[in-house]
Amino acid sequence: MNFEFLKDNYGIEKEIFDIVENKSKNLRNVFETYEQIKENNQIKIINSFMKNKLSQSDFSYSTGYGYGDSGRDKTEKIFADIFKTEDALVRPIISSGTHAISISLNALLKSGEKMLSISDHPYDTLLEVIGIKGNEYGNLISRGIIYDSVSLIDNKFDFEAIKSKIENTKLVYIQRSTGYGLKRAITIREIEEAVEYVKRINPNILVMVDNCYGEFTEDREPTEVGVDICAGSLIKNPGGGIALSGGYIVGSRKIVDMVSNILYAPGLGKETGMTFDMTRSTLQGLFFAPHVTHEALKSAILFCEIYSDLGFEVYPKNKDPRSDIIQSIVFNDSKKSIAFVQGIQKAATVGAHVIPYPWDMPGYSDKVIMASGGFVDGSSIELSADGPLREPYVAYYQGGIVFEQAKLACMITLQNMKDNNLLKI
Ligand SMILES: *Cc1c(COP(=O)(O)O)cnc(C)c1O
Repeated sequence: MNFEFLKDNYGIEKEIFDIVENKSKNLRNVFETYEQIKENNQIKIINSFMKNKLSQSDFSYSTGYGYGDSGRDKTEKIFADIFKTEDALVRPIISSGTHAISISLNALLKSGEKMLSISDHPYDTLLEVIGIKGNEYGNLISRGIIYDSVSLIDNKFDFEAIKSKIENTKLVYIQRSTGYGLKRAITIREIEEAVEYVKRINPNILVMVDNCYGEFTEDREPTEVGVDICAGSLIKNPGGGIALSGGYIVGSRKIVDMVSNILYAPGLGKETGMTFDMTRSTLQGLFFAPHVTHEALKSAILFCEIYSDLGFEVYPKNKDPRSDIIQSIVFNDSKKSIAFVQGIQKAATVGAHVIPYPWDMPGYSDKVIMASGGFVDGSSIELSADGPLREPYVAYYQGGIVFEQAKLACMITLQNMKDNNLLKI
């Protein structure tokens, strides 16, 4: 990068420029170790487009009930193919990852049945879906569903505790990604072990994975190692920064039918539902997804290395395996985490001139500060960061469709903290 340009336009000092520039050069070997994953996923997706004979005519769409939308049906065949499941539900009207997970849990669990989360409590927004927090109507607990959870120990499943709580369990729930926790993501290999363990106790227990932020960070997806159902958001990894909205669910035909009946209506299921001219962007996003996820991984690794060198606690640590695109940095000081997130916003594509402040977000229990300046509002596969305003004041960095922007963002965050006397460099 051109130092003079960065100095003139962003006030970046030479020391900060050198730290980030040298680190990105030194990390090239590390980045290369992720190339093979990108290539394998990329070829898998291209091959699925070919196998399913993707055609220009699939980009047209029907109106009204949405009957006979060939592009919608093909998109779902392609997702099922990539995730190696019988079927998929991929819809722009699924508004988020939370929505996708919520309809799945509601479809699969009846009154009196038990959900056991084995990777701590799930992500913040799901606490209201379950009914642990908030006082909303229609949550799982209010519908008579029993919920329990098992904590991880040193980032590993606690199989003893799982065994002691698994009796009468209908659905075991795993969150692959970090969420708002201080831990690394759970790897596919670890998910595989957990599935084997649970199914050995009772093969009828369904295993569900919240796959948000995990897609295409490894060679295999959870549904390739025995997981029954995965759900996620299209404005994260699998949308490649192109999808405008949406969520996906992959699993057996029966499971996908059950979820479709909740999203639409029994009898209508996945035969209906308009796609609002979104098929092209959904599939183009999927096409870019492995590449974009790779850029996001490189960006996370850069932030990890730079901030851990400066003495901050980070998760994952630099030698930890990665199975999502999140990088958490522990600031132990709200001023620092706010300065960091505001620094990320200054590097945004859209809205770099806006200064974010902490605010009450729907579904989150503490105030959260979010930097999110992408082409798609709220899209966190694009350069973004968020920090819940609670101790130990962690900022979660993610995304970055092009690595160069993440480099710029990294320099700006350091400069922003230094200028506010929050960091000595
Ligand atoms: C993002 C995310 C979700 C869902 O969040 P939405 O903003 O509703 O898409 C769920 N679980 C995890 C781990 C996530 O990172």
